[in-house]
Amino acid sequence: MVVAVLLAGGSGSRMGSDRPKQFLKVKGKTILEWTIEAFHRNPLVDEIAIVSRADSMEEVAALARPYPKVRRILQGGKERYDSSLAAIHAYEDDECRILLHDAVRPLVSQRIITDCIHALDRFQAVDVAVPSTDTIVEVDENGVICRIPQRASLRNVQTPQGFLRGTIRRAYEVALSDPNFQTTDDCGVVFRYLPEIPIGVVEGDMRNIKITYPQDLLLMEEKQ
Ligand code: C5P
Repeated sequence: MVVAVLLAGGSGSRMGSDRPKQFLKVKGKTILEWTIEAFHRNPLVDEIAIVSRADSMEEVAALARPYPKVRRILQGGKERYDSSLAAIHAYEDDECRILLHDAVRPLVSQRIITDCIHALDRFQAVDVAVPSTDTIVEVDENGVICRIPQRASLRNVQTPQGFLRGTIRRAYEVALSDPNFQTTDDCGVVFRYLPEIPIGVVEGDMRNIKITYPQDLLLMEEKQ
């Protein structure tokens, strides 16, 4: 079974709007609806789960009603990884394929979704990434550059990130026993806590942006 999990439990504070960004409308539909539609349309996706803030569960359920593949609305948590965990724990079959996707990436293509699912035939964990067009520097605690990695080997990571459920469950089990655990994505948890597991990389797409700032909405109006 293939489950697409849409993480919509964030507050969207960087958008500077009073509504979480997944509920902002573009061309008559919320960003969350556009994202549901992308996964709903893919024939390889069996089921969709949406992770929501506690105070938005009813609104999410109402938006999802026209999409029969949406089977669960789950309550998320404080950090993004708490929301991922809510979805991982909602399923029992360790062989099930779970795609964890930012609900605020509505422009994800069918090609990326399909490639990600197929890559799980060969890998237990799969990331989606594009070559970095910017040079990226690492700074120390004083804001002074301490490392400039070779750009050719750098990738910007997107979502979905795909896993066999058992693999991401085990990675989080180890992670949660680390008192210093922190992460901004799910592949990072496998990379750090199950280092023996190779993580496949599927080619992303520059269009697959994460709606974060107000100007991203304009970009989306043009592209949708
Ligand atoms: O904060 P960030 O930009 O990394 O959020 C990416 C996605 O994760 C968003 O779709 C957001 O709604 C979701 N998220 C979540 N639960 C949180 C924080 C973020 O589901 N606690």
